[in-house]
Amino acid sequence: MSTFTAPKGTYDLLPTVNSAAYLAIRERLAAPLRRAGYGYVETPVFEDVKLFSRGVGESTDIVTKEMFTLARRPESSEDLALRPEGTASVVRATLEANLHKLGNLPVKLWYSGNFYRYERPQKGRYRQFSQVGAEALGAEDPALDAELIILADDAFRSLGLREYKLLLNSLGDQQCRPVYRAALVEFLAGLDLDEDTRRRAGINPLRVLDDKREAVQAQLVDAPKLRDYLCEECKAYDEKVRELLTAAGVAFVDDPKLVRGLDYYTRTTFEFVHGGLGSQSAIGGGGRYDGLSEMLGGPALPSVGWGLGVDRTFLALEAEGIELDLPATTEVYAVALGEEAKNVLFAKTVELRRAGVATDLAFGVKSIKNAMKSANRSGARFALIAGDRDLAEGVVQLKDMESGEQTPVSLEALVTTLKEKQL
Ligand code: AMP
Repeated sequence: MSTFTAPKGTYDLLPTVNSAAYLAIRERLAAPLRRAGYGYVETPVFEDVKLFSRGVGESTDIVTKEMFTLARRPESSEDLALRPEGTASVVRATLEANLHKLGNLPVKLWYSGNFYRYERPQKGRYRQFSQVGAEALGAEDPALDAELIILADDAFRSLGLREYKLLLNSLGDQQCRPVYRAALVEFLAGLDLDEDTRRRAGINPLRVLDDKREAVQAQLVDAPKLRDYLCEECKAYDEKVRELLTAAGVAFVDDPKLVRGLDYYTRTTFEFVHGGLGSQSAIGGGGRYDGLSEMLGGPALPSVGWGLGVDRTFLALEAEGIELDLPATTEVYAVALGEEAKNVLFAKTVELRRAGVATDLAFGVKSIKNAMKSANRSGARFALIAGDRDLAEGVVQLKDMESGEQTPVSLEALVTTLKEKQL
């Protein structure tokens, strides 16, 4: 133990605990995107604070309470913040590089990285968390919304997850939402709400629907539903998304209270929730944000995207008792008895690695007993053991760590023998 521990709300990924699983989860969540024409994008972990206040929204907790802002340097005029989410940065990068003018529309991008929110930490809610995300920019097509939802569902399924639900809603558009908004404002005015909530209702009444407090939810039972206010175009769009999901075998549940309550979020909105995670149940979410590009000074660029939470996906796998089939980190572990043998096994270790066999070697001066303990702990299927006598005969001992069986193998044949055993 040192004087220091990881900062509150963060944790280390370690080979002994979870780091291999995290790498595999990121890979698997991204794999369906790679097969669907999405290109990898990486943006800075910090951006102009205003990108987030505009791109995430002034009325959201993320912007008002949870942003990690960086102290401004005396010589700088930039106010920077650690990114709380990925969409605003990806839209910014797309506009900056003119991707929407250079190639096919929609521009399809995916990313993987860490995000930062100054939240009250608890299980499943951290101040640094990891997401795999996808954005498709520049097309208004229900097939695109359906594609993204199907890709997220495929990603979760490929990990073996089953105990989750897809919640689906439509937020309407610039035509029908203002009518709904007016009805909601009138309804909210008649409720007994605290000042904070009232202020939030003033900026963005839809967000009040998202309030997690029971006392608030109890008053919202009879709130007008957006679904009843959708215009014909939005209804048809929503119907088409549902039709495509159903045809692809993706089940969903209507959730009229599901909002991403900002003016530039439109139509399709969705969340994947897992049954085994307690209060922090969302393992991923997203939706259509047709107005965001314009909010950031760009042209109209109707878009849709999602972010899937890697930390919570890990917890969901745990909750379902799913063990990922992870590749062995060490297949072969070499133990040399003596200086000369060490030279030979070191050379063989290098050769085996170059041939694609994951090999490790006992380092430092160790007794044979300790070296064999290390071999055991490494999880290797085979140990290679060699002493002076073996070398004189041109062999090494190959020990099957499971059966304990030990056979001499000639030095020349070693790489081919182990390559064959790899299968
Ligand atoms: P959001 O941008 O809030 O819709 O987040 C998308 C996904 O990221 C959520 O569904 C969660 O899986 C994950 N996520 C968001 N915030 C956190 C957090 N503080 N800790 C862990 N995971 C998070």
